[in-house]
Amino acid sequence: MKETQWQPLIDKIVARISSWTARKLPYARRIQLIRAVLFGIQFYWSQMFLIPAKVIKTIEAYCRSFMWLGTNVITKRALIFWEKVCKPKSVGGLNILNLKQWNRAAILKLQWDLTSKADRLWIKWVHMAKSTDTKARRQRKCHQANIFAAAGNTKKVEWKAIMLINLAIPKAVFSIWLIIQERMLTTDRLSKWSMTVDTTCVFCNCQPENHHHLIYNCTIIMEIWNDIFKWMQIQVPANTWSQLICWFVEKAKKKSTEG
Ligand SMILES: [Zn+2]
Repeated sequence: MKETQWQPLIDKIVARISSWTARKLPYARRIQLIRAVLFGIQFYWSQMFLIPAKVIKTIEAYCRSFMWLGTNVITKRALIFWEKVCKPKSVGGLNILNLKQWNRAAILKLQWDLTSKADRLWIKWVHMAKSTDTKARRQRKCHQANIFAAAGNTKKVEWKAIMLINLAIPKAVFSIWLIIQERMLTTDRLSKWSMTVDTTCVFCNCQPENHHHLIYNCTIIMEIWNDIFKWMQIQVPANTWSQLICWFVEKAKKKSTEG
């Protein structure tokens, strides 16, 4: 299929996203809807057709823009790279379907069926209609190489225990995912995106707002952390945000071992 023949599918996705943009949906809900869109494409289209790279890029760009900004217009603003978002949770992603890899895997399976299950009636028909030529074999090897290359890049993150066994509501888990990676939408980041905002911390009104200040170093936030530790009846386990994350990771690992 030519790229232009995929336009109706792209239009349909944009129409679906447009129907959601009117509502102010939280990140976690937007991710659920994106999963439904990508699953639909994988289920109905990806099994039969090799989707052109440009079409996949356009679909992902719409999904990415909706996920981060809730918009139906393509924008390059994103807090985490889409490739990383599509990785498994243990590798630091959100386990969103990677359309390119799944499409290639599905087509590879189809090609494998064509060459290995010659006794099936529909495959006999395909062989009669068009035998698998050298070009098809070359394409299959290329897809194989791509899939194996992508599968090899699976270095697990230290904080995977926090993501894998977290019983908090999806909204909170998503926020933790962003906080651990220091990708919160703080005002210093917004100003880098050329947005006019007051970059002073809204809690203490004296320091500039950035990740470390907002999460740990701000005097007001520090008081909240102290109250939490007091309520938990434990000594403050860290002096910096990085040390606190290490403490959380150790706690989560211990919990997963006990579980
Ligand atoms: Zn502050």
